[in-house]
Amino acid sequence: MLLTTHENPDGDALGSLTAMHWILQQIGKDSVMYMSPEEFPLSHEYRHMTLEGLLGAPPEDIDERTVVFLDCGNIDRMPVDFLQRDGIRILNIDHHHDNTRFGTVNLVVPQASCTAEIVFDLAHELGAEVTPPIADALYVGLVTDTGKFMYENTTPAAHRMAAELIEAGVDTHAVYRRLFEELPFRRLQLLSRALQSVARYEDGAITLATLGRGDFEATGALESDSEGVVDHLRTVGETKVAVLVRELLSDEKRGCSKVSMRSTDGQVDVSRIARTLGGGGHRQAAGLTTDLAHDELVATLRQQVAEQLNA
Ligand code: AMP
Ligand code: MN
Ligand code: MN
Repeated sequence: MLLTTHENPDGDALGSLTAMHWILQQIGKDSVMYMSPEEFPLSHEYRHMTLEGLLGAPPEDIDERTVVFLDCGNIDRMPVDFLQRDGIRILNIDHHHDNTRFGTVNLVVPQASCTAEIVFDLAHELGAEVTPPIADALYVGLVTDTGKFMYENTTPAAHRMAAELIEAGVDTHAVYRRLFEELPFRRLQLLSRALQSVARYEDGAITLATLGRGDFEATGALESDSEGVVDHLRTVGETKVAVLVRELLSDEKRGCSKVSMRSTDGQVDVSRIARTLGGGGHRQAAGLTTDLAHDELVATLRQQVAEQLNA
């Protein structure tokens, strides 16, 4: 098998990928992990994730392997040619409700809080032991995708899983420190610039921050340093949708922006808005990449949020 995940991998992507890899190895399967070299360096909070043996190019025996996608709602979120060929055998393990079911076999569980939760259940079904490294990786997926157990996807099953993982050896405070503290100062400086830029629309229903190339240059921040900024925007009262728009820095994506959206109280389904602009995600958290000019993008977002609020 060859295991992979979505581009710009988050905690659930990396956690479910590595945990699944170790589970498969434990039960005697030939598993390798693949991620494009372009994903490195990983976002700072994931610097401790163990990706030992990860491949950055297709192995020679790729045709004999089943490709397992983890946490990837849409095959275009892994824009790598060798994984998009016809005739490839795909197992698609994911929790996005709008997953396009691109696999030969699809294990899509929308009620799972994170893909790590599906992998956790698979470990039990396969009779694998949840060793401390597996527990750690799964916990990273769980704690990041549930917003530290605060988002609406935090079910009793998510808490039961947390309890079992802690029993298996997870040091929750150490993981918390790795993920949410010990961050480089440039992140705070970037956040500060994002907060300076905040605009509110539709009577405060939209709280939107913008980061441009200049903000990254001035702070020395990387694209991945914007991770988490959108969570600060959702704290403002009246906010139905928090939005971060950031300019993409690579030459191929010049003039494009990445948009991250979060719905606070569930009144607005942000995945619907994301899909109309070529992206996707969950009802409460969705994203997209666009080449629309900023004004046009804001006008579109305002119109779509207003439409959903008035429906
Ligand atoms: P982000 O805003 O990047 O943290 O992503 C939030 C959610 O939206 C995640 O569940 C992603 O899987 C999904 N998402 C982000 N960007 C895209 C995209 N370009 N296409 C489809 N889904 C996306
Ligand atoms: Mn993810
Ligand atoms: Mn996920």
